[in-house]
Amino acid sequence: MDIASRPAEPVENTQIADAAPPPQAPPVIHREDYLPPAWLIPQVLLDFRLGVDATHVVSTLSVTRNPEGNGTSTLRLNGDQIAPLAVRVDGREVNDWRLDGPDLLVELTGEAHSVEVETAVNPAANSQLMGLYASNGMLCTQCEAEGFRRITFFPDRPDVLSTYSVKMRGDKAQFPVLLANGNCTATGEGEDGTHWAEWHDPWPKPSYLFALVAGDLVANHDTFTTMGGRKVDLNIWVRPGDEDRTQHAMDSLINSMKWDEEAFGREYDLDLFNIVAVSDFNMGAMENKGLNVFNTRYVLADPETATDADYDAVEGVIGHEYFHNWSGNRVTCRDWFQLSLKEGFTVLRDQMFSADMGSAAVKRIEDVRVLRIAQFPEDSGPLAHPIRPDSYQEISNFYTATVYNKGAEVIRMMRTMAGPERFRAGTDLYFARHDGEAATCEDFVKAIEDGAGLDLTQFRLWYSQAGTPQLTVELDHDGARTTLTLTQAVPATPGQPEKQPVPIPLRIALYDRDTGAHSGEQLVVLDKDTGSFTFDGFAKPPVLSINRGFSAPVAIDFARANEDLVFLAAHDDDPFARYEAMQGLVVQYLVAGVSGRLDDAARTEGRAAIGAAFAAVIDDPELDDLMRGELMILPAETYLAEQLLVADPGAIHAEREALKAWLGSECGEGLKALHDRAAAVPYGRDAAARGARKIKTQALTLIAAGDPAEGARRALAQYRAADTMTDRQGALMVLASLDAPERAEALADFHQRYTGNALVIDKWFSLQGSAFHPEVLEHIKALAGHGDFTMTNPNRVRALYMAAASNPVAFHDEGGEGYRMIGELIRKLDPVNPQTAARFVPVLGRWRRIEPVRAALMRAELERIAAVPTLSRDVREQVTKSLG
Ligand code: ZN
Repeated sequence: MDIASRPAEPVENTQIADAAPPPQAPPVIHREDYLPPAWLIPQVLLDFRLGVDATHVVSTLSVTRNPEGNGTSTLRLNGDQIAPLAVRVDGREVNDWRLDGPDLLVELTGEAHSVEVETAVNPAANSQLMGLYASNGMLCTQCEAEGFRRITFFPDRPDVLSTYSVKMRGDKAQFPVLLANGNCTATGEGEDGTHWAEWHDPWPKPSYLFALVAGDLVANHDTFTTMGGRKVDLNIWVRPGDEDRTQHAMDSLINSMKWDEEAFGREYDLDLFNIVAVSDFNMGAMENKGLNVFNTRYVLADPETATDADYDAVEGVIGHEYFHNWSGNRVTCRDWFQLSLKEGFTVLRDQMFSADMGSAAVKRIEDVRVLRIAQFPEDSGPLAHPIRPDSYQEISNFYTATVYNKGAEVIRMMRTMAGPERFRAGTDLYFARHDGEAATCEDFVKAIEDGAGLDLTQFRLWYSQAGTPQLTVELDHDGARTTLTLTQAVPATPGQPEKQPVPIPLRIALYDRDTGAHSGEQLVVLDKDTGSFTFDGFAKPPVLSINRGFSAPVAIDFARANEDLVFLAAHDDDPFARYEAMQGLVVQYLVAGVSGRLDDAARTEGRAAIGAAFAAVIDDPELDDLMRGELMILPAETYLAEQLLVADPGAIHAEREALKAWLGSECGEGLKALHDRAAAVPYGRDAAARGARKIKTQALTLIAAGDPAEGARRALAQYRAADTMTDRQGALMVLASLDAPERAEALADFHQRYTGNALVIDKWFSLQGSAFHPEVLEHIKALAGHGDFTMTNPNRVRALYMAAASNPVAFHDEGGEGYRMIGELIRKLDPVNPQTAARFVPVLGRWRRIEPVRAALMRAELERIAAVPTLSRDVREQVTKSLG
């Protein structure tokens, strides 16, 4: 329910005069209210006089009336915390402009004008990191979604496309490198040690893709020749000293450019592609045209300081931002409700890219794990929204796992139904039809429909309905006939009490128990509430492998015998299904355990099945270690909580830890042998060496669970012998959770060894924040007072507090200390960086699905936040909805 429609509370408070004024509810923006812009801005000229404490901006807009607009004579230019120093129309200073809240309104009489506005901003004081800000003495911008209006007044909406010419001047010593979108067209020296540069971007773009960077930077340079023969200069700009850690990013960029040509026929369209790494950044990275700005964490990598997972993340994010050049920049979004148009599609593209660069099987499993941990809870909570939302108060709150990851799954389903070739025909048509336009999700679906030859009429519900469809599966065997009955229900979500059935494409296979084989995979599509599918030719009830490859983002309820899951875990020829069977085995056991449904016999039987499956995974010579590592990962506690209507996080944690300890001793010998074997594999970046490193820490974790002393001994040895961050961090992670003397020694060594390396010090904070240590809350409090901690760097804040918020031992502390800690963080961080502060609200918003004692404590914390009168729009929206 939105706040506008909530009945007012009766006033009973006699101290009302002392109470803070009721916080103003931010206006709600609705998708249905879209109107085309009244005025267009075909060209923009920006002139910057750069300074860290004061930057002066002159913006000259060529303004023309939009024939599709409403004909108003008022030009609305959005602003945010800026003031106009001067306004000129057609070269003459005017003073009949008005301010409407933060926006500047200018009356225009004709059809086309030149409008010039001067503003000044203070980058050093910009702690929100939106607009123009300073980071380590350099200047950079972040404009998506609505940051450009913090630099100058502009129709800051994605359907206003302009060509940009930028001139910037600044001190040459302070800002030796001056970058903006497009190509550098001229440079020169000015007076008093200044210099200047002019940049021109020939491709029309919305303001959110504008970028400027000025600072003392060095580049790793390379070139790429496109399929059409264009030679492109590539630069990865970093602070001096970091250049030796940019080669992996460069390799990833070149691979991305090549891959997009081959997989989607997309060629790069400028002679220059710049990437800049900045250490203060709210998100992962940003796809500004020709000038991607990255969080350092997704650029810098070398074996000493980055884990294998970090390497993968760099490759994925470099790919993601590069792919936006077509899915996002050449074809952009009409309005922010269409965000999934670019993000869902681009996530799918980066997932496909990473799958092609490494192990497709492992990548798919990782992507599903992320979806289940981050998106499923969102979809079943108070912040649930469709991948194309219908309303918002603050758009920054909609850069969510739903828009990104479920958005990717929805497009992936279209690809599954169409097959790769027809899907490609659909995307080709989409790019051809909408190149240079600001498009909608509907445009995308229509293009796939026309290009791939699919009827997506009912499928469009995936765009408009929130909630993870729940699929109930029954398999009956009668004589020689097998009947598969599928029933779906899309749960009610805020504002959407009634749901319609969606088409659910399921890749399935039926295994013959006698031969151990199946006779081919099939695609069944359930498009009604209930559907039955029959199969002949099985003498005994077959074993069903369903939702292979996770062909549909649904939750499946299918009670199965352990024996069937053990069979699939060992034999399924779909790697995802194999992982899924393993997960199913453990989930069934743990959920029964926390629900009090495991008597001694069932516990023994469940453990035996899991132990046997695990032993088989440890020993299976056919498995590569990267995949073996996946099969050894136990389901996350948040995912287990999702299986329960109301969860007791303490019980889930205890049950899961008990299983780990049991597995650690039951499979102890096998795990030690595995750990020893992996430790003997020499360093390499190949799959075998990476796999060895992955299972090394997996094995170590379980060994430590079964025998903490042995675990601590091995962990310290692994830590000392480590020649990669993967091994070192893995060992330290295990030690951080142990109450062992080795713990302090290793933590101190790690900090001392990496002092000055921000990304590694982030790991040091994060490891301790995530530790399952009995005193973890005290540790976190101490870390918050550590000299290396700061509220102004989002990476550092997330390192400590996202770790804490996702750590059940810390966050779900029985006394509510974890909730108070996160609540206090939100209140402190909100005035500094509202966008980052708002990201911590959803964990508290899960209260309805948590047992009553903790739920009350969580709710109380939300109320404490809601009582702050000066709350940002970002946090206000999330807190109000979470209490709702
Ligand atoms: Zn993106």
